[in-house]
Amino acid sequence: MVEPVNSSAPEFDVVFRARRLIGPNGEVSGSVGVREGRIAAVEALDAPMRGARTVELAEDEVLLPGMVDSHVHVNDPGRSEWEGFPTATRAAAEGGITTIVDMPLNCLPPTIDAGSLEVKREVARNNVHVDVGFWGGAVHGNLDELRGLHESGVYGFKCFLLHSGVDEFPPLDSAELERALRIVAELDATMIVHAEDSDAIEHAPSAHGENYRDFLHSRPRGAENMAIAQVLELARRTGARVHILHLSSSDALPMIASARADGVRATVETCPHYLSFTSEEIPDGATQFKCCPPVREAANRELLWRGLADGVIDCVVSDHSPCTPELKRLDIGDFGVAWGGVSSLQLGLSAVWSQARIRGFELSDVVSWMSSGPARVSGLRDKGALAVGSDADLCVFAPDDAYVVDAEKLHHRNAVSAYHGRALAGVVRSTWLRGTPIAGPEAGTAPAGKLLNRGEA
Ligand SMILES: [Zn+2]
Repeated sequence: MVEPVNSSAPEFDVVFRARRLIGPNGEVSGSVGVREGRIAAVEALDAPMRGARTVELAEDEVLLPGMVDSHVHVNDPGRSEWEGFPTATRAAAEGGITTIVDMPLNCLPPTIDAGSLEVKREVARNNVHVDVGFWGGAVHGNLDELRGLHESGVYGFKCFLLHSGVDEFPPLDSAELERALRIVAELDATMIVHAEDSDAIEHAPSAHGENYRDFLHSRPRGAENMAIAQVLELARRTGARVHILHLSSSDALPMIASARADGVRATVETCPHYLSFTSEEIPDGATQFKCCPPVREAANRELLWRGLADGVIDCVVSDHSPCTPELKRLDIGDFGVAWGGVSSLQLGLSAVWSQARIRGFELSDVVSWMSSGPARVSGLRDKGALAVGSDADLCVFAPDDAYVVDAEKLHHRNAVSAYHGRALAGVVRSTWLRGTPIAGPEAGTAPAGKLLNRGEA
């Protein structure tokens, strides 16, 4: 390479030098040059690259693309005492996440038309520490709004097939689901589905009291299996692209693989809690573990790991769905009345890495599940890859460092966490959004995140 005569001007705003980095083809050593918020070069570790500044990673650090969490309930506006944009996105940044996609429910109004999307954007604008995209809602009675929401920039649509937990976000029945999927196919959008069957849940024993097994029996695998079968068949019939949210029942993996082999456009996610916990070890009354679908048996957990190894499961995202400690009913520990949802936005990367490494997976696997996978499923073109042309969203991660979770020190709004007291491997040392530090020793306090629109990012 010929050096220009006037070689004093820096070519890059920042150059990262990393003995280990996770690129699109796995782990290598290298240097990453950032210009105007984008990755402008990925070259050898000793490549002669001049940056306005250089960040040398320590011996024990690995450079990752920023994590992408496409399943976050920010609840803002309307239930901001549960969570809000400043706190959720601060927690995300501290956890190595650079992009979240916000769910359309639990906020008020729910995001079910272009107007309510604009209300949410107004609240989020200038209040986010990471980039934020939005899902729209497909609910009973709003199918005529889907096109308008799509044109306003949502990344796709979420629907429920049973009561969502909040009355203002009513589920679709099967005729409406088919109609909605025809619209989604026409828009070339994605329908993301909470797949539990209403009828099956209604006929299951009701959840009450502090015994976790009783709660588990109230949300049987069969309810998930039936709903997923229905979604796959309607996706087959309509040609729509569908995504199964928070898979807990490993029974469904073979039918998802089989539908996909037939050309059905279906993807699937699971969550850190299904990969970390087992129903056998959840103490009575520990409602911080309550979520729907529920955490199941140890054998089921291992089959979910198999699903990741086999490539049937595309991604792992948090389903961060917090509420106040009062609504978790930690005082009485009643699984029947406690709000369902696990708060884990800041912990997902460490939680998944802790479990992955003891099963022989590599960091590059975790990156494909938690960064490139969710970016692909959501249609976030500029995210999820440490590659030239992508946004310079980066995470400096120390995989062999460790910590014990203290719920009080987490950044999401309410200090409730199913991971409290657990030792986790892997520490996020710093997080960078479009080349700017947003977590770690150099991070500023001003919100640096942007609101994203489908097709533009
Ligand atoms: Zn959710």
